[in-house]
Amino acid sequence: QKQAAKPKVLKVGTEPSFAPFEFQEEGSKEYTGFDMDLIRAVGKQMGYEVQIVSMGFDGLIPALESGQIDAVASGMSITEERAKKVAFSKPYYKSGLTMVIKSDNNSIKTFKDLEGKSIGVQIGTTGAEEARKIKDAKIREFNTPPEAFMELKNNGVDAVVNDLPVNEYFIAKTGAKDVKLAGEVQNAENYGIAIAKKNTELSEKVNKALDDIKANGEYEKIYMKWFNKKP
Ligand code: GLN
Repeated sequence: QKQAAKPKVLKVGTEPSFAPFEFQEEGSKEYTGFDMDLIRAVGKQMGYEVQIVSMGFDGLIPALESGQIDAVASGMSITEERAKKVAFSKPYYKSGLTMVIKSDNNSIKTFKDLEGKSIGVQIGTTGAEEARKIKDAKIREFNTPPEAFMELKNNGVDAVVNDLPVNEYFIAKTGAKDVKLAGEVQNAENYGIAIAKKNTELSEKVNKALDDIKANGEYEKIYMKWFNKKP
């Protein structure tokens, strides 16, 4: 009697309040978004079953290092600092930081205008790093971007510094008229899939799978679905 081979499982950590990359539709428990489709396509290409593990953004790299998860797909920007601790796949999405401010605020136009202001950020992110460089700014850290946006709406902070596509999606999706984007895109950043440094075999497989889904059109299909344009 023939038995079906049990698929290998790829445990993927994510912080799922980062729409349109990883989030849950209202009333749904399923994790959806660009990163979720991408990592499932990568897993399928490698012959792995993808299991999503939800956790705080600042817990993702420690979870990789301790072997609790195999990979991170969480809009994570490839930075020198992080690359000291974990390996990154090839870049899969080009991003950058902008600000969100109140619509009636006409005094904040550049990041420099944030000097002395209070800034909401998500804990452990490149946005938090960038905000910390601003002179005399008061940094307020939140567990998720939606919490930071909420504080802005309630006038608890002057601005939120966060990834551009997430800021855009938040404003468009919620139809918010009381907040707007501001500032030039700062720090062109690339998202990568993070993998434990010692797991070189998995890194190679993931990079190969990324190449494969780019070559066979699957990557473009996923990109079109979420961003309505070609990559
Ligand atoms: N791209 C940013 C970073 O890597 C934010 C990621 C996130 O909040 N999910 O720090």
